[in-house]
Parts: sequence; structure tokens; C-alpha cells
Amino acid sequence: MDKQSAQVFLPPRERCFERLRLARFGETVTCVHCESDEVVKRGTTGKDAQQYWCKNCETYFNDLTDTIFGQHRFALEEMFDIVKEMRSEPTAQIARDLGRDYEAVLNFVHEVQDVSGDIDEFDLYDVCEADEIYVTAGEKGLEDEESSPRQRGLFKKGRGDFQGDKPPVLTLVRRDDGRVRFLVCKDLQDADEDIAEYGDGSVILCTDGYGIYDDIEELEGVDGHLAVTHSDTYVIGDAHTNTCENRHSFLRQWLAKFRGVSKHHLQKYLDFLALKLNSPGNWFEKLLCYNVSG
Ligand SMILES: [Zn+2]
Repeated sequence: MDKQSAQVFLPPRERCFERLRLARFGETVTCVHCESDEVVKRGTTGKDAQQYWCKNCETYFNDLTDTIFGQHRFALEEMFDIVKEMRSEPTAQIARDLGRDYEAVLNFVHEVQDVSGDIDEFDLYDVCEADEIYVTAGEKGLEDEESSPRQRGLFKKGRGDFQGDKPPVLTLVRRDDGRVRFLVCKDLQDADEDIAEYGDGSVILCTDGYGIYDDIEELEGVDGHLAVTHSDTYVIGDAHTNTCENRHSFLRQWLAKFRGVSKHHLQKYLDFLALKLNSPGNWFEKLLCYNVSG
């Protein structure tokens, strides 16, 4: 689509700024540097962001300062559109729809995915589940190689490793509230340690009968271990990994939309997916509020 046609479908710029301001500041704009409310408006930037002068620390800032939208050449409404579309559309398609350069859109998509992992804090306590899944992901997915005609089988049965383009993904779920974390691994040799790191000592971990989880209750962070073998016909009390299997179906559907993701970027994609699953009602607001300066 050419750029003029694309703009017809974008939300009005001023509404995007209003939404961003409301998420960041609420009713009263406060200084992003010193949090003072001794702030006055001082014109707008070239990208139509409101500019402010803080009387307290005597510095300028604007609506976009320290947000994920600050350092990009896109208009704010284009970035809102990219964030909305990246939930379901391959980046190449978004770039075509916007009439924008693929690399530039991909960079922004990766940045949003990167901060998703930071926003979405995670730890394990009480009854939790862990399970593994193997994703077929090579050096480059179609996401990163627009012209590649190769179709990739997304999931193959059996074990694999990162080197062999079948990186294992550990899925951790907290039974209490269903929050999930996906961990892309080189291999599963240290899976028990990777998992235990998230535990607070109270964790009762439910897994399948795979040997990598043996003796995990010996590690600090994990209190007990319930292993189920897949040949068991019955789910006995807490001892199941049904929640992980449910998250795996989201993971499969999600990655299938992109028809192959580079294994080097797989973690980012799954961080964004986890943010959406863990914060279905306010994941977008969390991105709006995120402060890139830490
Ligand atoms: Zn200030």
C-alpha cells in the first residue's frame, strides 16, 4: 500500500498522544527527570509531541521522552499500528501495509519484544508446572528473510537442540494465577537449574517423567517435585502439566502466524507472547508506561 492510502487506516495522531499521556502521567503531567509537577507547556516537537519545561530541574522533556516511541522515525500513530498488528501479522506484511521500510519496522518490532521481557517480571511459588517443547527455528526465519521461499515445519516430534535448529523451550507456569514464562534453551542439560532460579523455596513443581527434572527438589528454590508419566491415564490431584500444555497450544498458534522465526530472536517473540498472555487487559498500557531509561 502506498503511504497516503495507509494513513487513511491509522488512528488520529492526537488521540494517540492523548492515550500515551493518560497512561504515562494520568491527569497531571510530572517531570520525567525529577517528578516535579512544576511543569509548563512549551510548544511541540517536529513529531507533534507536546514539549514541557520543568521549572524545578530546568530541563525540557516531551510526551515521547524515555518511552519506546522516542527514538524512531515513525509517526506515533504508525507505531501504535505496528504494536497492534504485531500480535498477529508478520512484520513484512505490516511494513507493506504501512508503505514503510521492512528493516525499520522489524527493528521497532524487536525493540517492543525486548522490553516485553523486562516488563513481564516472573517468579515461581507454591504449585507450579514446567514442561518442554521443541520449536523448529533456524538461523533465519521468514520474519528475518522476507524473500525466502522456504516453508518451515514449525514443530517436529522428539528431542532437539539449539545447534540443530530445534531449540527446546521450557515453559514455566505458576498455578496460582496462570502466569507463564517461556525460556529458550541451548539444550536442556541445565534445565533444573534454569527453573530453580525462579523459585522462592516454596515451589512444588509438577513435570512429566523426563529425567532432566529428576532431583530438582534438591535445588534451592524448589521444595518438592511431582512427576507424571504421560502413560498415566488419570490426572492425580496437583500432579499434571495441563496448564503448560494449554500455553503450548497458544505458542504453536502464535508462531505459526509468522511462518518461521529465527532461533536468535525466538526468545523475544515468546517474551511478547507471555506479556500478552499474562496481562490480557493491560499489556498495551504497560508498554505505553515503560520507561526506557530504567
Ligand atoms: Zn524536573
